[in-house]
Amino acid sequence: MRAKHEGVAAVSDHEVYSCPACSTPAALPGHCPECAKKRRYVKLVRHDSRLPVPMSMVRGADVPRLTVPGLPGIEDAMAGGFVPGTVTLLYGGPGIGKSRLALLLCDRVGRLTPRPPVYVTSEQMPGHIKLTAALVGVERSPMLVCYQTQVGAVGDVLSESEASFAVVDSVQGMTDKDAGIVPVVREIIRVARLLRVAVLCVSHATKDDDYSGPRTVEHDVDAMVEMTRHPDRADTLLWTVERKYRFGPIGRQAVIVQDGEGRLHDYRAQQ
Ligand SMILES: [Zn+2]
Repeated sequence: MRAKHEGVAAVSDHEVYSCPACSTPAALPGHCPECAKKRRYVKLVRHDSRLPVPMSMVRGADVPRLTVPGLPGIEDAMAGGFVPGTVTLLYGGPGIGKSRLALLLCDRVGRLTPRPPVYVTSEQMPGHIKLTAALVGVERSPMLVCYQTQVGAVGDVLSESEASFAVVDSVQGMTDKDAGIVPVVREIIRVARLLRVAVLCVSHATKDDDYSGPRTVEHDVDAMVEMTRHPDRADTLLWTVERKYRFGPIGRQAVIVQDGEGRLHDYRAQQ
């Protein structure tokens, strides 16, 4: 495990790879995964992202987003899905259902990714997470689950699993209180960029703007999403793209309805 992590750290943050045949970007050297699907083995070429290249050659909007089958409201609020290599911070008050929604989302995004997504839990043990997963009906999901409180090991887990989507629940559980969440989130961002994984970080909201609050990382993360209860309906949750989204408009909302058994449903999917 240790050696793998050092391997991740050894690749420069500025080194990127791409396929000369289809321009698929990659974080690590090797053969193009897209071309390999068509039984063509094309060696990736290395670039240094510090060197200037024409804007037309920079991959951007043509990088496919990770869509969210079955949760069209969330997909829409995120302007089409999660962008590879970015970090979204999901925050909300205690007990509102952040873990339940994160588990459901992880399962749904994983339905279209080549490798299973990873759910990193830093507070509850995997056995407890499974009970929560059963509440939302994803206890048989192919997603990988691991308990980890050392942020430095998250890179190992993501690189070994080759996942394209991951959840870290929660960022507060990844650190001791003195350090705060800023260094934790920055390390997750570094790894997400390097391995081109879309990461959803779950964070507790604090009433006062103290050091552990999600606002302290607003500058660093790519998207801030707030989870709240509907002001008029106790059985309804709101996913609000709040204050910051680098790849779409802010203020868009998804409506998530809880049924009698505690399962969550995207309001848009029921229409
Ligand atoms: Zn290719």
